[in-house]
Amino acid sequence: MRQYRNRYRGRIAPSPTGLLHVGHGRTFCTAYTRARDAAGVLVLRNEDLDPQRSKAEFANAMLEDLYWLGIRWQEGPDVGGTFGPYSQSERRDQYIHVWKELLARGFLFPCRCSRRELSGIAQAPHESAEPDRGKVRWEGDEGPMYPGTCRPAAGATDLSSRYESPEGVNWRFRVPVGRVVSFEDGHFGPQRFVAGVDFGDFPVWRRDDVPAYQLAVVADDQAMQITEVVRGADLLLSTARQILIYEAMGWPTPQWYHCPVVLDERGERLAKRHDALAIRTLRAQGRTPEEVLGRV
Ligand code: GLU
Repeated sequence: MRQYRNRYRGRIAPSPTGLLHVGHGRTFCTAYTRARDAAGVLVLRNEDLDPQRSKAEFANAMLEDLYWLGIRWQEGPDVGGTFGPYSQSERRDQYIHVWKELLARGFLFPCRCSRRELSGIAQAPHESAEPDRGKVRWEGDEGPMYPGTCRPAAGATDLSSRYESPEGVNWRFRVPVGRVVSFEDGHFGPQRFVAGVDFGDFPVWRRDDVPAYQLAVVADDQAMQITEVVRGADLLLSTARQILIYEAMGWPTPQWYHCPVVLDERGERLAKRHDALAIRTLRAQGRTPEEVLGRV
């Protein structure tokens, strides 16, 4: 467990790929309140790694919406006398460092499967003689589990001398099949996932040279000395993946607190395209921050 001079350090980490909705607002408010109640520090991180989907207008809207909700953070680059967010798009060196280190330690392999091939595998009938390659498993509602097509045999040659940079192919983390990953969640209690059963070899770097979420978030939470990660319950499975990265790097893990996911009136998870429940829509309709946060 991680302690930095006993000071609580939390973070909120929105992606500027759409407008924040009620679910984000509630989760971020929980993160804010937990940091405040612990007399700690809250960091804002703009997770703008995806160049196609991230938009400056959404990043600006996100800052405004957080402010309107009453959420404040206490650290970040100086922008005209207030704290700006840390932006992932400016932190590539950190991610390259982690990629190199994981590669040198034998945890990564290059993967040439296209998204289309992988979804094709999920649909095709399977009669393969190779048990691990033939069965299609699903990772929660995230999609088909990686079938291991490019996974090299255990103990295969050291790749680090062959690759100077991650560019040009996808990179995956080779999960220790059968390993139980368990952790205590501050809200949901004990959690348990099995590598290779609940989730497979997951991407850490994309073919278009963008670091994948799992790698970037661990690199940042470590570098920013985060002691507790507060985020939505849709990321519980990702926490198990991230714990494997912490272990591979020899880093202590933070504590975890996942918030219940907010559902719409049809029982579906809110998405960023759910404009009806976007914070700014509700604000324009005259709702108060307390109403949006479900406090009245
Ligand atoms: N950027 C991620 C998202 O908006 C959240 C990452 C995290 O909190 O770990 O879904």
